[in-house]
Amino acid sequence: MKYGSVRRPGRVAVVGVGIIGASVGWNLSRRGAEVVFIDAGLPGEGVTNWSFSWVNASNKTVRRSYFDLNVAGMTAYRELAEAIGPDSWWYPSGHLRWADNPAAEARLLQTAELLADWDYRVEMCTGAEVRRRLEPALTMPDEHPVVFYPDEAWVHGRHLVDRLVGKAVASGAELRSGTAVCDIATSTNGRTRTVALSDGNRLDVDIVVNAAGPNASHVAGLIERHLPMRREPGVVTRLDCAQVPIRRAMHAPHIEIRPDGDTSVVLHSREIDALIGTGQDLAELAQLLHESARHVVPELDAARMAETRVSNRPIPADGFPSVGALPSVPGYYEAVSHSGITLGPAIGQLLAAEILSGKRDEMLADFRPERFCS
Ligand SMILES: Cc1cc2nc3c(=O)[nH]c(=O)nc-3n(C[C@H](O)[C@H](O)[C@H](O)COP(=O)(O)OP(=O)(O)OC[C@H]3O[C@@H](n4cnc5c(N)ncnc54)[C@H](O)[C@@H]3O)c2cc1C
Repeated sequence: MKYGSVRRPGRVAVVGVGIIGASVGWNLSRRGAEVVFIDAGLPGEGVTNWSFSWVNASNKTVRRSYFDLNVAGMTAYRELAEAIGPDSWWYPSGHLRWADNPAAEARLLQTAELLADWDYRVEMCTGAEVRRRLEPALTMPDEHPVVFYPDEAWVHGRHLVDRLVGKAVASGAELRSGTAVCDIATSTNGRTRTVALSDGNRLDVDIVVNAAGPNASHVAGLIERHLPMRREPGVVTRLDCAQVPIRRAMHAPHIEIRPDGDTSVVLHSREIDALIGTGQDLAELAQLLHESARHVVPELDAARMAETRVSNRPIPADGFPSVGALPSVPGYYEAVSHSGITLGPAIGQLLAAEILSGKRDEMLADFRPERFCS
């Protein structure tokens, strides 16, 4: 990403330090901007730590510009892994997807065909090939069609946030964690702002970046901005296992499974998300996830339930990201998105470039915050 002519933006408050805030702040700080990260909790412990964390564009075909942005997200990850090293956060092992009924299978194959037409790498395999070449521990019929997306990945979000924030702090950024932004007052000159924190401190800043994830609507309200967001909770469970029996992330019928380091596996399912709020408690939802996972990977039978959490997805009302300056409020920028794991590093590059150069990138044209201004 080219930055062109760079201006000094003054002091930037990044409100919210998940994958998106960390990426924006790191990109600003490495280019000499003065950054203060503020998080109500601990960096990376919001939705970013409770995500399926699949880096992809194959699930983003709803609109071509959104697909392109997600492809840019995948490219930004490869650049980031080169820039800071892959360490314990980057797992570019591809993604497997298959279905167990004719209608779902037809949709999957149709999408794979569309993606191939859009120059996205797709490999068609059979169940037997997948077990031989990629995942020996899976159960699936030998002749079953399986789609493999070799350029996809999964990310350990919390580790990545720690790396980015650590690097930014080492080059002069400030981190204030365990304190929430509870008020944002505009000075009489209309440009600088005073950010009030729940620990009683007040910070004078020139720019505010709203990267507060599911709480972004509340933070937007502090500058009297209405950012409508959906309420779409998801449940994720972590299992501890002596040895992780799978090597990559996958969408199996009824269950999504991925490794989460050397001794842990993460499970998620849209079908189980639909049960949130219908009377089952967290332990029961986790149990259902475990049962579905066992059908696909029998070795997970011995795994032990570690932790389960419900989080709200940070989704602007129309389902698309809200990224960039809000022209009616000078010095205020938004960085709010679902698919934020896939998009974090690209949003970080694009928004930092916009703050530093004042130029708006065409790639964000469909995702501008002002579309929500009435
Ligand atoms: C079940 C589930 C599965 C998902 N799967 C995927 C996937 O496979 N691939 C993908 O790309 N995306 C996925 N997502 C979406 C993705 O996880 C999110 O888009 C992404 O993590 C959002 O990151 P964030 O930095 O915006 O939010 P967060 O990680 O939540 O960070 C926001 C931070 O803001 C802080 N904060 C909030 N209010 C304040 C305040 N007033 N003052 C200071 N700090 C504040 C919070 O403490 C938090 O740390 C999934 C989401 C869910 C729920």
